[in-house]
Amino acid sequence: MKPGITGECFCGEVKYEIDGSLHDARSCHCSRCRKAFSSQASAYALVEANDFNWLSGENLLTSYIGEHGFGLQFCSQCGSTLCGVFDGRIHGVTLGCVNGDPEIELGRHIYVGSKASWEIIPEGVPQYQENIPEIESN
Ligand SMILES: [Zn+2]
Ligand SMILES: [Zn+2]
Repeated sequence: MKPGITGECFCGEVKYEIDGSLHDARSCHCSRCRKAFSSQASAYALVEANDFNWLSGENLLTSYIGEHGFGLQFCSQCGSTLCGVFDGRIHGVTLGCVNGDPEIELGRHIYVGSKASWEIIPEGVPQYQENIPEIESN
C-alpha cells in the first residue's frame, strides 16, 4: 500500500492524512469561490470522508457554513482554508494545502464565464462557462 496523502495549513499546526486518493479535481472561477479561496479560483478535489483523518490541530479549525449547507474549514491561527464540509462530514480538500504530489491534476475549469477580468486561464484543460452539464441536471 502506498503512503497516504498528507496536507497542512500555512503555519503547520493543522495537519491531516488521507488514506486513499483524491477525486474530481476542479477549479471554480465563480465570484463566490474567488472570495472563499482568496484567489483567482478554487483548486479543490473530492475525498471519501472515511479516508480522511485529522492528525493535529483540529481544535484550531474554524468553520464557515454557507447557505446551502456546504462549508469550509480553516485554520484560525494562519487562515489557510483546508477542506470543504457538507452535513458535518469532510467533502473535499483544497489542493493548495496538500503536500507533495497527490497524483491528480485539475480536470476542469468551471464557471469561467464569471472569472475575474484579470485572470488568464491556461489552455489545454476543459473549460465550462458554468458547471458541467452532468452536475447541473442533478
Ligand atoms: Zn495554520
Ligand atoms: Zn465557485
